Amino acid sequence: MLNIKIFGIVQGVGFRPFVKNLADDNKILGTVANRGSYVEIFAQGSDFDLKNFLHALQTKNPPRSAILKIDVNHLPDKNFPDFQIIESVHESGDIFVSPDISICDKCAEELFNPKNRRYLHPFINCTACGARLTIMKNMPYDRERTSMSDFPMCDACKAEYFDKNSRRFDAQPICCNDCGCEVYILGKNLRGHDAIKFARKILVSGGIVAIKGIGGFHLACDARNFNAVQRLRNSKIRPTKPFAVMFRNISAVKRECFLSDAEKLFLDSPQKPIVLLGTRNWELGTSIAENVAPNINKLGVLLPYTPLHMLIFDFPDEITDFPDALIMTSGNPSGVPITIDDDDALKNFDYCDAILSHNRKILLRADDSVMDFIENKPSMVRRSRGFAPLPFFYDSKNKKSVLAIGGELKNTFCLAKNNLFYISPYIGDVSDIRTVEVLEKSIKRMENLLEINPEAVACDLHPRYQTTALAEKISKELDVPLIKIQHHYAHILSCLAENNHHDEVIGVSFDGTGYGLDGTIWGGEFFICNEKNFERVASIKPFTQAGGDKSAREGWRIALNFINLDVARELHLADEKNLRGVKFLLDKNINCVRSTSVGRIFDAVSAILGICKISTYEGEAAMRLQAAAERSDKNFRAEFKDTDEIIEEILNRRLNGENIFDLARFFHESLAEMTAEIIFGLSEREKIKTAALSGGVFQNSLLSSLVMEKLRRRGLKILRHELIPPNDGGICIGQAIFAGEKIS
Ligand code: ZN
Ligand code: ZN
Ligand code: FE
Repeated sequence: MLNIKIFGIVQGVGFRPFVKNLADDNKILGTVANRGSYVEIFAQGSDFDLKNFLHALQTKNPPRSAILKIDVNHLPDKNFPDFQIIESVHESGDIFVSPDISICDKCAEELFNPKNRRYLHPFINCTACGARLTIMKNMPYDRERTSMSDFPMCDACKAEYFDKNSRRFDAQPICCNDCGCEVYILGKNLRGHDAIKFARKILVSGGIVAIKGIGGFHLACDARNFNAVQRLRNSKIRPTKPFAVMFRNISAVKRECFLSDAEKLFLDSPQKPIVLLGTRNWELGTSIAENVAPNINKLGVLLPYTPLHMLIFDFPDEITDFPDALIMTSGNPSGVPITIDDDDALKNFDYCDAILSHNRKILLRADDSVMDFIENKPSMVRRSRGFAPLPFFYDSKNKKSVLAIGGELKNTFCLAKNNLFYISPYIGDVSDIRTVEVLEKSIKRMENLLEINPEAVACDLHPRYQTTALAEKISKELDVPLIKIQHHYAHILSCLAENNHHDEVIGVSFDGTGYGLDGTIWGGEFFICNEKNFERVASIKPFTQAGGDKSAREGWRIALNFINLDVARELHLADEKNLRGVKFLLDKNINCVRSTSVGRIFDAVSAILGICKISTYEGEAAMRLQAAAERSDKNFRAEFKDTDEIIEEILNRRLNGENIFDLARFFHESLAEMTAEIIFGLSEREKIKTAALSGGVFQNSLLSSLVMEKLRRRGLKILRHELIPPNDGGICIGQAIFAGEKIS
């Protein structure tokens, strides 16, 4: 008998019926069950039939599914009478709270069918689609325990709800044009279709509309209209950070962006994440305004995922030239979680020309998920709506219940029980006290939903993180141990978690900022580790960060480590006063901290090359450096022993007038070569053949693929991230695993 575990997009896409049909076709006996983040199959048959079955599983999967990984194990045979689908509700112990799912094709068809009784109904849904996690109060998932409890069903909806043959049998958020929730314009007497028409009129004339969605408000405007986009930037105080664009359909996406088959599969999946796509604008021009995603070569793209989005694009009114691309950015004041209710919307969005809201309460925030691709495989940047709270499985003898608070930036938290690790939707940056409150409330809600009572609380080692303080408070309240985990070790553990890997690895953690065991800033670390402990065996060469928080945003401050004042002046790194000021701090070791952060090295090189001296959002300098490197078609084979040498060489070449795109490329290649050499050295010394790559820097697809190529060529096994972000949005699961091991 084979035990087959299939990971990927296998939820809500008809995967189990598909497996049953294949099993029947191939005379296979056994079962298939939904296990949260994967589908588990027990398959029994002749070797020949099993081989065909496995092959068909991997080649004929249903249209909206995507298989990322298949684990196959041999087990002794059992007595199966036939092949059965096991319903997840019948399983004991593990709870599967469904993520929110985008509108399905059948509902979309009904939405625009004038003969259907839900024609143009902004909340149309069925058992295969609609809001889930964000409207749930408690388990089990029944209408009384959701936001829909405010709305009694009409007789027609009730009939469908109780009809076993209906697509809406047991569909908790069911409603129609005669019952349920409705949309309206806040502060105006416009409801239902009038409200949608009003919002369309404002959008087409270049205005800004706040739109309440599944997991919070969006801010929308015409993505082709430079002035509208600029007004949104000025109002939101967001000078350059890229905005996501919602396109009306795939063909509009293709007009503006490159789209591979793998990217298309995720873009159009039931999860409907924002996918970062290469733009055509450097070659072919674009109708998207240039201030939507300035200075980078990628655009965050998503498709309509609620009936309301579809109605905004396609409502049959007199407007004929409605844009097919709208900015769709999270509606929140900067540094604060996404807005979810009308009172806050009125306060926060006073600059909007209209607020299109609705009366279905959002109980848990869920920002849009963001996904990039590396070597044609997904690389999650922000895991939230559509994916959370699907659990990850990490096979361990300890099955303890744990709460891990996560990090300070890009915060998510993790609840674990029975080897299942549930990562929350995105919370955000917890440096603001309002975010701490949201984090605490969200933890309570998820504990309640998943019925988890933590036996330990885990958090980062950083003494001044708000998350550390909150973890201390919660652990006292619950009277359970508090366990602190070094930041970069947690990154590596998150990578081991995603790969369900247990043996020792060489962990490479390249990152922005994290608190090291010795009180300095770490972020360019090489570990020998497993889930129980770690040893820091190497790091990049330390340098000095001068000027506190500013040194994390202003790469020229880091660059001054490597160059003298004369050269800094020649490169116009900063004005004279600032240059002298920082040099003074560095010389006298005032307000300085030692650092091995690779993120900061990217900032320094970006500044030296004149690409970005000051970041206006996190990661800007590094993203622009990568974008520059991707404009070079040169190949370099350069070997350096450390980052000091690499930067010195780049500086010399820059002063010789070499092309900055080539030098950006040169930096990536040199850093990749240096990294790979360190890994090879460790691999030989320690006899370890597996390397795990994690930390925010590995979001950089160019660096990642250069490093992976080199490792592969030398026969090393690589563990990388796909569905858990390599950035701080992923560390909660690493913390949870370590804490679970520690208390068992
Ligand atoms: Zn549906
Ligand atoms: Zn109804
Ligand atoms: Fe980090």
